Amino acid sequence: MLLKRICYHLFVGVCVCSDCVNATVYMNFMKSHRCYDTIPISCKLVIFDTTLQLKKAFFALVANGLRAAPLWDSKLQRFVGMLTITDFINILHRYYKSPMVQMYELENHKIETWRGDSFQRNNFLLSLLPFPLSLFDAIYSLLKYKIHRLPIIDPESGNILHILTHKRILKFLHIFVSKVPKPAFILRQIQELGIGTFRNIATVQQTASVYDALSIFVERRVSALPVVDEQGKVVALYSRFDVINLAAQKTYNNLDMTMQEAVRRRMCFVEGVIKCHPDETLETIIERIVKAEVHRLVLVDRLDVVKGIISLSDLLQAMVLTPAGIDALLS
Ligand code: ADP
Ligand code: ADP
Ligand code: AMP
Repeated sequence: MLLKRICYHLFVGVCVCSDCVNATVYMNFMKSHRCYDTIPISCKLVIFDTTLQLKKAFFALVANGLRAAPLWDSKLQRFVGMLTITDFINILHRYYKSPMVQMYELENHKIETWRGDSFQRNNFLLSLLPFPLSLFDAIYSLLKYKIHRLPIIDPESGNILHILTHKRILKFLHIFVSKVPKPAFILRQIQELGIGTFRNIATVQQTASVYDALSIFVERRVSALPVVDEQGKVVALYSRFDVINLAAQKTYNNLDMTMQEAVRRRMCFVEGVIKCHPDETLETIIERIVKAEVHRLVLVDRLDVVKGIISLSDLLQAMVLTPAGIDALLS
């Protein structure tokens, strides 16, 4: 198994053999770069007051082309959490009854009313300081807490500077990849390395309803579903991000629509399915995922039948946390 080989040199002090230097290249890179280094010169950040109406908040995400916003409680004078598309999914799944019945809670509740509800998971904002905290610390938090958005807070002003994601971190590494030695394991096949999830893959039939897909998102807590035909062949990819189309198109009152229809109606999406095969190398997979700017690849066999998922979380776990002896944050 990758990076787990025990080296004799470890028993006698710091190991400098090529196997161990190889295995720790990306871990060291992440430890030696600060979160601050990834912050773009300019970016858009929208913050919601918790007294804002839920429906308006999701429309504002759409209008600003954003995936998430920090929540500010003006009574407490502090950030109290995030609003993400996962929250939109949880709300639709909980309150949807039929196309004939309006979701009163989504239409009329404020963010704070909904957050007072017992099914809301977090009541605080998980965040990091830009320094001295490193990218390694950020990866650890993203994977440990199983979140996809990590605000970076200015220690002096208390303002949020940026929202860090797995995509941004891997892209950052990719920009500097030519400056770090290429480790041998990067040329090994993904099936040999065992990076990703290969069992019990959550998928959705193209004839299933959008509500069925939301149920799978809620129950399995996965970030995307390969959409499959009767033979189990992947025909599309429906991620949590795609659910925001229901707000953009004001179609969230018709969750009985089929997945085929929902996929067809998407406005902003990636053409085709970005896939990979078990015999491809880790290097090829990183190139493809960074270039396509997607959060995961669908692992398929020669007939396009779904065999696994390789997500950015899996890559960061294997390349950065496992070499540091931090195992299985994803299980
Ligand atoms: P998405 O993939 O839809 O962007 P996440 O996986 O990041 O969403 O969010 C999962 C849940 O965790 C949501 O309820 C969201 O509000 C919450 N959450 C996400 N990031 C944070 C954070 N930094 N602090 C507190 N809660 C968060
Ligand atoms: P996020 O930036 O929120 O992590 P995702 O990468 O999950 O978002 O999704 C962004 C868009 O890319 C969505 O329209 C989604 O359907 C699409 N997408 C994500 N992964 C794939 C993939 N492997 N193949 C095709 N489209 C994908
Ligand atoms: P993510 O939320 O995509 O960063 O991934 C977290 C973990 O869930 C990773 O180990 C993924 O391989 C796994 N995963 C993501 N999508 C699916 C899915 N549809 N079915 C099973 N596991 C998944």
